[in-house]
Amino acid sequence: MSATFRALVIDKDGDSQNVSFRELQTSDLPDHDVLVEIEYSTLNYKDGLAVSGKGRIARRLPMVGGIDLAGTVVESRSEAWNPGDKIIVNGWGLSETEWGGYSRFQRLKPEWLTRLPAAFTPLQAMAIGTAGYTAALCVDALEDWGRIAPGEGEVLVTGAAGGVGSVAISLLAAKGYVVTAATGRPETHDYLAGLGASGFISREELAAKGGPLQKERWTGGVDAVGSTTLANALAQTVRGGAIAACGLAGGADLPATVLPHILRSVTLIGVDSVMAPQEQRERAWARLARDLDRTKLEAITRVEPMSNIKALADDIIAGNVRGRVVIDVN
Ligand code: NDP
Repeated sequence: MSATFRALVIDKDGDSQNVSFRELQTSDLPDHDVLVEIEYSTLNYKDGLAVSGKGRIARRLPMVGGIDLAGTVVESRSEAWNPGDKIIVNGWGLSETEWGGYSRFQRLKPEWLTRLPAAFTPLQAMAIGTAGYTAALCVDALEDWGRIAPGEGEVLVTGAAGGVGSVAISLLAAKGYVVTAATGRPETHDYLAGLGASGFISREELAAKGGPLQKERWTGGVDAVGSTTLANALAQTVRGGAIAACGLAGGADLPATVLPHILRSVTLIGVDSVMAPQEQRERAWARLARDLDRTKLEAITRVEPMSNIKALADDIIAGNVRGRVVIDVN
């Protein structure tokens, strides 16, 4: 084990925050029961907020960033895990209240670890990351709702060219749903069609203020954007349909009325990945293992060194990142 290793640390700088690379030792890490050697982490929208300082994600400083990690158990004081076990961690407060994945090593609570699905390498698991696993939670939530079925009408995916959106399109298309992608980047239409989208709607059209009840169009949807986009999606959902909402890339507000809910029985399903119980995680990862085309996963992924993280954080907040970014922490 190397004596020191590099980690990305978010710390106080007067009233604001400072982000720097520091050399740490394993003795600097939190006193949790499982020591993991990390191979890859990822860049999610929340990582962009944390590293750029555009959102107060780190609630305890100093904080090692990175909400995802994949690696190998090196030491364990828990009977649940043994050295050599391949694991992933998504969420559980990493980069918020707990040190995260932008580090070569991390100590973690045993209950945060999920066994790396046999279907994926650590790199592929991080190509999916929190964004992809959340997309799977959204599709699970829609299917649990039980009133959408492949071949019946259109399903909407907003923030389509982003991480959640790209994986949601792939998963829905694999099950035979007809997917309409809402994107602000027309140049990504070929890319999104390659993932399985068969229709497009512009980000601007869906974000413009609309009436409380509009022409019924979507049998279901996955929304990563929030604000007027989610309000319109709900107002355009067919009687008895449902939208699974997980994101706020367009804003945390929801300027909507109750009318779609009380006049058309439309359901808004909230999806939180951070504290999702282990059985929901395993189910979502099983869906990804079963339905996510590896060629498509490769097409949406790029690997970047950790030294590029600050520029990448600005890019994802500006809405300029397509698909998924894996961070090589070594
Ligand atoms: P990305 O940045 O990869 O994707 C977000 C996409 O939203 C962009 O690619 C863009 O898509 C669209 N977008 C960006 N800015 C705006 C804007 N101002 N108005 C409308 N659309 C915009 O992020 P992720 O996919 O990683 O995350 C998406 C959202 O989901 C984030 O808000 C994130 O915090 C949230 N999230 C929530 C989780 C949970 O547990 N609830 C877990 C994971 C993510 P396009 O260019 O196609 O228009």
